Amino acid sequence: MAELIDGKALAKEVRAEVKTRADAFRATHNRSPGLHVVLVGDDPASQIYVRNKERAAAKAGIEGRVHRLPAETSEADLLALIFELNGDDDIDGILVQLPLPDHLHDQTIVDAIDPAKDVDGLHPFNSGLLVVGRKGLRPCTPSGCMRMLEHVGCDPKGQRALVLGRSTLVGKPIALMLLEKHATVTIAHSRTEDLAERVRESDIVVAAVGRANLVQGDWIRDGAVVIDVGINRVDDGTLTGDVDFEGAKDRAAYITPVPGGVGPMTIAMLLSNTVDAAEARIM
Ligand code: NAD
Repeated sequence: MAELIDGKALAKEVRAEVKTRADAFRATHNRSPGLHVVLVGDDPASQIYVRNKERAAAKAGIEGRVHRLPAETSEADLLALIFELNGDDDIDGILVQLPLPDHLHDQTIVDAIDPAKDVDGLHPFNSGLLVVGRKGLRPCTPSGCMRMLEHVGCDPKGQRALVLGRSTLVGKPIALMLLEKHATVTIAHSRTEDLAERVRESDIVVAAVGRANLVQGDWIRDGAVVIDVGINRVDDGTLTGDVDFEGAKDRAAYITPVPGGVGPMTIAMLLSNTVDAAEARIM
């Protein structure tokens, strides 16, 4: 029977560490680390995410501000705001809530963020630092997954790790982070054949696809560590991950629940990145 990796509890620990560091930063520099979030349009899910980030920042001693812009905001106006935030010395982190409305290109906007303030870790400069194994701002969800592995004493070194999904946001960066920790990494995606076989041979499974119960419980190897990043709303309105939790929990050594697993870690790592950015910028 698997032990649960409690993302809520671990995120609380991370947020407490962030608060200590943010308080120390304020004591030394006479200002709090500053995080500015840009929300374009009125997508209900994005509004909730942004509100959660705002609240979490305030509790962690971070000066948070949200710029709420109408859905029809032009690219030029959005870029002008990003450049203004880039140039403000009291702002350490800039996050543009994605996805943007259709007429705006996510990547064009992310490319305009000063890489030193890119607390989502999505700027190509920061992606490049991750590829070459150097320090930089790294995407929050994969960083949260790595922190969860560390928390349960799972050392990826020499382990067979399978990442399901190859997005820039989750799949690719987590694969690179596992590789950095010396795992033997396989990346599965929409065109992968024999997915069940790939899962069966893996000691660590990270699922980041967005398909409820894609990974069947009996595919999981005995004693595997399962990190379920997927968030899927099912017919009865509840949230579930990409892994058949009930089936997998009898076989895995550790497993993350959905909700209450990776989700809370993502915000905690965003706050941690903000303090990292603040400290790096004043050095
Ligand atoms: P995405 O849609 O950008 O990428 C999905 C990936 O899954 C693609 O690379 C695709 O190739 C792969 N895929 C599709 N079908 C597959 C299959 N049958 N087998 C293997 N791979 C397959 O999604 P994303 O942004 O990476 O997010 C993935 C999931 O994680 C979503 O459910 C999202 O809501 C969730 N998510 C959660 C958090 C969090 O904080 N918990 C953060 C980001 C994303």
